[in-house]
Amino acid sequence: MEWKKLFKINRAQIFFVCAAFILMVAIGSFYVSDVIRKVSISTITVALNETEKTMKAYLREPKVAFDNIYTALQSMLDKGDSQEAVLQYLMRTTNLLAQEKGISGFNSVYGYIRGEFISGLGINPQNEYIPQTRPWYQMAIRNKTAEYTPPYTDEKTNRTIISLAQEIHGRNGDYYGVLSMDIDISWLVEYTKNLQFAEGGYGMITNQYLFIIAHPQEQYRNMLLDDIGGDYVQVSKKLRKDKSIYAKQIKDFNNDNAIIFFKELYNGWFVGVIMPAQSYYSDLYTCIFTLSILGFVFAITLNYILLRLSKAKLQSEEESKYKSSFMASMSHEIRTPMNAIIGMAELALRENIPTTAKEQILTIKRAGTNLLSIINDILDFSKIESGKLTISPGNYQLSSLINDVINIIKVRISSSGLQFKVNIDHDMPNELFGDEARVRQVLLNVLGNAVKYTKEGFVSFSVSGKMENDVVFLDIEVADSGIGIKQEDIKNLFNDFVRVNLTVNKNIEGTGLGLTITKSLVNAMGGSIEVYSEYGKGSTFTIKLPQKIRSLEPIAEISSTEEEVRIEERFIAPAARILVVDDMKVNLMVAEGLLKPYKMQIELCESGAEAIDRIAARNYDLVFMDHMMPEMDGVEATKRLRELGHGLPVIALTANAISGMKEMFLSNGFNDFLSKPIDLSKLNILLKKWIPKGKQESY
Ligand code: ADP
Repeated sequence: MEWKKLFKINRAQIFFVCAAFILMVAIGSFYVSDVIRKVSISTITVALNETEKTMKAYLREPKVAFDNIYTALQSMLDKGDSQEAVLQYLMRTTNLLAQEKGISGFNSVYGYIRGEFISGLGINPQNEYIPQTRPWYQMAIRNKTAEYTPPYTDEKTNRTIISLAQEIHGRNGDYYGVLSMDIDISWLVEYTKNLQFAEGGYGMITNQYLFIIAHPQEQYRNMLLDDIGGDYVQVSKKLRKDKSIYAKQIKDFNNDNAIIFFKELYNGWFVGVIMPAQSYYSDLYTCIFTLSILGFVFAITLNYILLRLSKAKLQSEEESKYKSSFMASMSHEIRTPMNAIIGMAELALRENIPTTAKEQILTIKRAGTNLLSIINDILDFSKIESGKLTISPGNYQLSSLINDVINIIKVRISSSGLQFKVNIDHDMPNELFGDEARVRQVLLNVLGNAVKYTKEGFVSFSVSGKMENDVVFLDIEVADSGIGIKQEDIKNLFNDFVRVNLTVNKNIEGTGLGLTITKSLVNAMGGSIEVYSEYGKGSTFTIKLPQKIRSLEPIAEISSTEEEVRIEERFIAPAARILVVDDMKVNLMVAEGLLKPYKMQIELCESGAEAIDRIAARNYDLVFMDHMMPEMDGVEATKRLRELGHGLPVIALTANAISGMKEMFLSNGFNDFLSKPIDLSKLNILLKKWIPKGKQESY
């Protein structure tokens, strides 16, 4: 099953590897076949040339002897020597040349001279022997010069003979007859037939008219090449035209596929080498087979390695998924008690308690808030690490985002005595499309650092924008007159867990993750972040961030530095009935305490099932539903409520603030969500939105 899945995931790569190897084998085979072809052609060409050389050497001697005899005979005949003298001369010459030191293959010299057949062998032919019908005679009268006849079988010796013949003319042109010389070429016939370059191959010789001189099949001797069957009609045609053929596939006389090579020899004859196609290709087939096997083994090995790597990757992804879900549940587990700590501290601070206790509780609240921000950082970082950092864009108002950020920083800066300079370009478009929460996180991180690492002087925050088509490039600059960063530390600033200048900073809380997260977020949103700093004088962080424009209406006036932090408009709603559902008593107490100032009728319940029963029994104006509860969780309970037809607003309470949660809640029937620990201003906004307007009374 797992392998099947791996195959599916990697099918493109597997296909690519296989295709690459098939291509490799194909190209390899092509080149190898080319090399093999060239090697065979050159081997065979060498052999054909060798055959020609041998033949030339073999036939040159008889020709020289023939020419000498011719000249001698010519002068004898011109002188008018007797027939007997001519016979004696021919016999002497035959004797001489037939000796061992004479001419190899020499048979006899003879002729039809002055109307009479005279043989150097001293024999008298039978009556039926008519010289004029013999091939040598025919050859002589057809040509002016001495020519070889096609070979024929000597009746007596049964050997293959060729005759060299020429008409004898006197110096003054008298015609005396024909001189001829027989040469035994049996060796050449054998030699040629055995021109074997592969098993089952053979050689052949034809004369200039394509009459076969030598062929392993005796019956083809003296036949015209065109007549032996197979594709030889075409072969003859080509030979007559081109005089040579190299590595051509044809059907042989026995209809087998064969590769043929033919070459014209110096005397116009043709020598051919024929080999069965199968043996000609056998080297090639072996080579392609070996290459294919190698390619197959390599492809299998490579694919196996690929699948193993992919398996390891899958495993590590799985592990990182577990890690990420572990982080999510950890965040939930830690955020829930944090909610209690911060919430209870908040409640306690509202009570009339002694100043020392108030300070201690304030410390608890501050430490809790810090801890919470560290948890959030680690959660974000774990998401970046597992590649799950997602940007969820939506519509938002730039003015409200900047306002929020300024207000939060003002609160933080208020106790430090620092000057907070704000400079916002009012021509920027207000209605934007982007991930508001992430932009806010980036701004708060950088501004928070500026406040953290500046003891005296100022922190400045300026935002301007350049518009291009439907995008505004926000130019954000955060400068401070703080401790600054050493030049050598700047390059490491955006690395994981890096905290620099620890001697000075050791009392400042931090994880070294803030800037890593900031940079990842900015990059994920298509922007960039840069830092300029002078050690001891201050730092400037510049962020460029593209955001889509929804309308060109410029931003509203942003509150200036001098203005007081906006206090939320509170109200009371004694007529409103609210149900808070959470499985943890302490959380119910926190929620109840936070809702107390609104003077609503608050009911608490500890399970989803109980909530459904209560809602069925009486009318509520609003429900706060915890997400994670044993047995029936908040999501399931809300789903059931919707199935039962209850349309009242349900707000999710969650400590599990990972990305994508908002969409999950909204798609499961919730109207809104509030993350724990509960932020008072967010709670106020939600109540204002969801408590029926008729039940809201001014405070
Ligand atoms: P931390 O949680 O430590 O603040 P950050 O990743 O946000 O982690 O910052 C990394 C380090 O960069 C900090 O520890 C600090 O030394 C340095 N740093 C960041 N911002 C500033 C600043 N405005 N002025 C001086 N140093 C800064």
